[in-house]
Amino acid sequence: MEAKDIKKIKTLLQSSENIVITCHKGPDGDAIGSTLALYIYLKKQRKNVKVIVPDDFPFFLKWLPESEHILLYEGNKEESDSIINNADLIFTLDFNALHRTGDMQKILSNATAKFVMIDHHQQPDDYAEVTYSDTSICSTCQMVYHFIEALDDLNRIDTDIANCIYTGIMTDTGSFRFRSTTSTTHRVIANLIDIGIDNAKIHQNVYDSNSYNRLQLLGKSLNNLKIIPELNTAYISLSADEQNEFNAQKGDTEGVVNYALSLQGIKLAAIFKEDQNSKLIKISLRSKGDFSVNEFSRAHFNGGGHTNAAGGASKLSLEETLDKFISILPNYTKELS
Ligand code: 5GP
Ligand code: MN
Repeated sequence: MEAKDIKKIKTLLQSSENIVITCHKGPDGDAIGSTLALYIYLKKQRKNVKVIVPDDFPFFLKWLPESEHILLYEGNKEESDSIINNADLIFTLDFNALHRTGDMQKILSNATAKFVMIDHHQQPDDYAEVTYSDTSICSTCQMVYHFIEALDDLNRIDTDIANCIYTGIMTDTGSFRFRSTTSTTHRVIANLIDIGIDNAKIHQNVYDSNSYNRLQLLGKSLNNLKIIPELNTAYISLSADEQNEFNAQKGDTEGVVNYALSLQGIKLAAIFKEDQNSKLIKISLRSKGDFSVNEFSRAHFNGGGHTNAAGGASKLSLEETLDKFISILPNYTKELS
C-alpha cells in the first residue's frame, strides 16, 4: 500500500464508528475469509462493525470464526439498508465494481459513507476514497494481511483472523498451486502457521466435507464433460434438472471446472450451470497460460475476473449459451492452439 493511502486509512478509521464490510454476490472462500478477517480485526478495536454479504455462502465455509454473525442482504433488506445508511465507512472486499453485489448495488451507490476497496480483480472502478487494488496478489485475504501489516498491527492477528486469511488464500490459489502463488504468499502462510492455526484442519474443513449427493453431482458433471481438441478447450454443462436430481446446494459445483482444466493440454475450461433462481446460465471460466478469460468473459458473457479465472452469465437458454460459446471459440484459434 502507498504511504498516502495508509495515512488516509488511519484518518478514516479514527473518524469512523459505524463500519460495514461487504463482498461480491455468490461469496467464495476469499470473499468470506477476507470480510471476516477484517471484521475481527476492527472489532478488536472496538468499532461497531457489521459484515453484510449479498447472498448466502457455501456450507464448507460455515465453520469460519464469526461467520454466524454475517448478515445476508437477501432476506434482510430493510435491516441491511438501515445499517448501510448509518455507516460512516464501507469496506468493499474482493470485487472491483459495485454491480458485483447484485441487489446491494443500489443502496451502496446511494450511501453517504466513505468507501475503501481492497481487491485483486482487474479493471477496478473508481468509487472509493482509498482503492487498494493489486491484481498481482493471489487473494483479497493476502491483501487484508498486507493491510494490517501496513497499519503496523501484525501482532493483532490472532488465530481467528489467521484462520480466515489462510482459508481465502488457500481457496483462491487452488491450495497454493496457481501462478498467483508467490514466495510472499508462502511467507504470509508461514507466519499464519506460526500464529497457531491448524492448516491441515482448515483444508479438511473446506475440502473434506462432501455429501454423497455432491460427489454424485460431480460424477454427472464429469459425464457431461466435452472436449474440443483442436482448440484445447473443455467444458461442462449442468441443467437445472441435473442439479435438482442430486439436490445441489450452494457451493456444490465449486471447483468442478478445475477437472476440465486438469485435462492434458487444455488451455481453456468452462462450466455452464442453469440457475433456476436468476433464470441465468452461470458461467465459470478458467485458463492456463496467457489466454485471458477476464477479457473473454467481458467481451462475450457480461463478466470478468482475472486472467486465469473469471465468471460470467448468459440470458440465453443452456443450449443456446453452449452454441454461442462454441461458435465464438474459432475466433481465438491463434491464442488457443
Ligand atoms: P467463479 O468462476 O469462481 O465464479 O469466479 C472466478 C473469479 O472471477 C473470481 O475471482 C470471481 O470473483 C471473479 N468473477 C466472477 N464473476 C465475475 C464478474 O462478473 N465480474 C468480475 N469482474 N469478476 C467476476
Ligand atoms: Mn478473490
